[in-house]
Amino acid sequence: MVLCNCGQEAKILTSWTDLNGGRRFYSCQRWMQTIHWVGRPPMCSRPVCIIHGLLRNKNQLELEIARLHGKNRLKNKLIVVLLFILGILGLIIMSG
Ligand SMILES: [Zn+2]
Repeated sequence: MVLCNCGQEAKILTSWTDLNGGRRFYSCQRWMQTIHWVGRPPMCSRPVCIIHGLLRNKNQLELEIARLHGKNRLKNKLIVVLLFILGILGLIIMSG
């Protein structure tokens, strides 16, 4: 068992960054920081390259989803404002 300086037990995680893809490291669970690497840097293997590509695609899709959600929220606000204006116009027409 590896302990962090803060006293928490360190967990072994796998990095999926471009620089250290597939490399394992001990991480502090409290501060989410790397304590030290496990073993030597892995050679670039086919599975690591595939996982890198999949993660990159996943991140791009998540960004696209977030962008579309933002666009959708704006569209919904515009519809509410438009309905409000139409309602007021309707009241003006009905009373006049
Ligand atoms: Zn710690």
